[in-house]
Parts: sequence; C-alpha cells; structure tokens
Amino acid sequence: MSYVKGLKCRECHRHYPVQAVYVCEFCFGSLEVDYDYDRIKSVLTREKIQSGPASIWRYRELLPIDGEPIVGLHAGFTPLFKAHNLGKELGLKELYIKDDSVCHPTLSFKDRVVAVALTKAKELGFRTVACASTGNLAGSVSAQAALAGFNRFVFIPADLEVGKIVGPLTYGANLVSVEGNYDEVNRLCAEIAATYRWAFVNVNIRPYYAEGSKTYGYEVMEQLGWHTPDNIVVPVASGSLLVKIWKAFNEFKKLGLINEVTCKIHAAQAFGCCPVVTALKEKSDIIKPVKPKTIAKSLAIGNPADGPYAIDAMRESGGTGESVTDEEIIEGIKLLARTEGIFTETAGGVTVATAKKLIEQGAISKKESCVICITGNGLKTQEAVNDHIGKPYRIKPTLDSFQKTIRNEAKIKPDIWETR
Ligand SMILES: *Cc1c(COP(=O)(O)O)cnc(C)c1O
Ligand SMILES: [Zn+2]
Repeated sequence: MSYVKGLKCRECHRHYPVQAVYVCEFCFGSLEVDYDYDRIKSVLTREKIQSGPASIWRYRELLPIDGEPIVGLHAGFTPLFKAHNLGKELGLKELYIKDDSVCHPTLSFKDRVVAVALTKAKELGFRTVACASTGNLAGSVSAQAALAGFNRFVFIPADLEVGKIVGPLTYGANLVSVEGNYDEVNRLCAEIAATYRWAFVNVNIRPYYAEGSKTYGYEVMEQLGWHTPDNIVVPVASGSLLVKIWKAFNEFKKLGLINEVTCKIHAAQAFGCCPVVTALKEKSDIIKPVKPKTIAKSLAIGNPADGPYAIDAMRESGGTGESVTDEEIIEGIKLLARTEGIFTETAGGVTVATAKKLIEQGAISKKESCVICITGNGLKTQEAVNDHIGKPYRIKPTLDSFQKTIRNEAKIKPDIWETR
C-alpha cells in the first residue's frame, strides 16, 4: 500500500510516474516524490506511529515504497537525549543530541536513506546497486545490499579514512577508489548510470533515497513529545539531510501531528568546504562550487546538489549557518566526548563546533531549545583525532612503577590519592 502519486519536478512541477529518473526532461530541475497527503491524513495518527516498529518504518506511510521493506529493519529510531553537561558548558538549558552515531547497521544516518533506496531498487527490478560516496554511504550500501542480495559497486574518492574503506571491503562490495574528489566521483557515476542498468542510490534513484532522511526529522519531533525544537544544527554535504528535515517538520504540521513548526534550521559546514554557508552569508541564491580541503571528508562536497534548496529552507525557517576550521572540528569532537561520552566522527565535530559558535554569536538564543545532529561514528575517522588526544601512561606491571609514573608525573587532582 503506497500513498505515492508519482514524482514531481521541484522547479516546473511537471509530474512523472514512479521510475528510476531524477531530472526533469523539460527544465533539468530535480525530481521529488509526491504524496497524497489527504489520504495519509485519514490514516496516520500519533498512536498509529507509536504502535509501529522501533525503526524508520514506523513512518512508512510517508516513505516511497509499495510493498514490505527488505532492509533496514532496525535502522533509525536512535536516541535523542538531553545533553546536560554540554548544555552547561555552552550555556543552554535545553540542549539535545540526536545520536545517529549508533544507527543500525553501519553507524551513520546513511542507513536510513539506503534502507529506502534499496527497497525501492528491488521494487523497480534492479539487480545491481551502486553509489558515489564521501564514506558513510559506501559502508551502508555495501552492508545493506549484501543483506538484500544485490550486486554492489561503490565509488569513493581515493583519500578516504581507513575506517571508511575497511567496511565496504569487509562487506564484500566492489570498491572503486577514484583518483579525484567527490564531485569528480559523482560526475563519473552519472555517466556510468547512463550506461548501465544499475540503481545508483544517490543518482538515478535519488528522489526515493533522499526521502529516507525525513525519518531523522520525524524522530526528533516524536521524541521531543510531538513538537519541533526552537533550533536544529544540521551538517551539510549535498544539503539533502537539511532539506528533508525541513520537509519532515512541515509534513507533520500538514498532517496535524504537530501544532506548529517553530524551528530555525542552521547549517554546519567545514571552513575548507562551505559553499552553502558562503552563499547564505553573501545573501546569494547561487552556490559557487569549491575545491574541498578539510578533515571532514564525509561533508566534502564542493558542488552540493541540494544547496539552493538548503538555503531556501534556512531562510524560510529564519535559521542561519556557520563554518568551522579543522582545529575547531577536532575541539568539537573532543568537547562532545568529554561532556557527553559520545565519540562522533568529523561531521559531528563540525555540528558541535558550529552550534557552539552560533550560541556564542547569539544566533541561537540561550533561552531556546536546540538539537545538535550527530550523524556518524568516531571510530571511522580516528585519524582526525589521533595526534590530538595525548597518549596512554605506560608502566611496568608493579605498584612501584604505577606510583612513580602516575602519582609523580601525571598532573591529577590530589583527592584521587586518598588511601584505604
Ligand atoms: C552524508 C553525511 C552527511 C550529510 O549529508 P547530505 O544529506 O548530503 O547533506 C552528514 N553527516 C554524515 C556523517 C554523512 O555521512
Ligand atoms: Zn521541470
């Protein structure tokens, strides 16, 4: 049972049937899934959602699949919790973390989009799936396509972190390391998608894939007790997640599941790749492509496909954006780890550092609530922090060595040394 009417051009609003297409033949605008909201409204209630599975599929009426989901049965429904310690440090009483660093099965929010994309790929009759990835998508496509029994081809820039390469190889995907940046990988993938009948999750079936990101926004509202936060800080690569969180908020409003959308959406980017934040600050509608140079490789898209829509969403919501340096990203990762015990990847460092900056600037009021989006796991980007966290104390296995080394050399608070 599906509530999808078809695809619709985001620019000229022409309609298309459900198929593996992503650009409008008339105006080259990008295509988006179009739903019958009246019919959804007649069946979807808070109670219905709450009685559903503890995964993204509790919102399946708002996802573009016809039959049963085939993968991602445990994806999503990740923790949202009040960050007391970090909130104290940043001066915010109502600060929350939405934590997709523990999303099943590959520890990033990409498990949401891939679950929807692969289910749709099967419905559309594909046998081979592929993607152009900045890292996390590669892992998620490799893992979930293994489960679903697809042939799988995964394309990445050659300079990715070890943790993002080991995953796809272990899951048994054909991993293609391209000597170029993500934008070059993506261009190559568009050519390959035009040549072979493969489902490229973020190219020819992108309209379906992207809908999976809405579940992140649905969960934030449901977990906050059916309302939006006053602010949300979202990491931006292609801009799709940000755009879809905004869409999710507005869909819930349209369906009467929340009363109003009160949320300002803020973009977080790395200084070495911030085309969206730059355009926002220059009050421009045109995104000037950049050559990425940042440790936040998962966000290193210099020519973001959904950039203009992300800018629309931020302006409409009254939000803003900031960029942060590599040093600030590392400090952001360490700050979250030290205060909340969450080890996030570089993208999470970007969001934490950006949130801190926006709070200091007053762009996020200390009187308001704020959700920080954590979208990936720190174990995959250990290179980023390795040289910035010190080393373990090394001792001989004797009390004497312990006391000499730790007690005499380490600068630890004296009250620890109370004896029995
Ligand atoms: C892909 C990714 C993003 C951003 O995704 P877009 O939807 O392309 O903006 C954010 N965080 C992490 C960890 C990612 O892998
Ligand atoms: Zn069009």
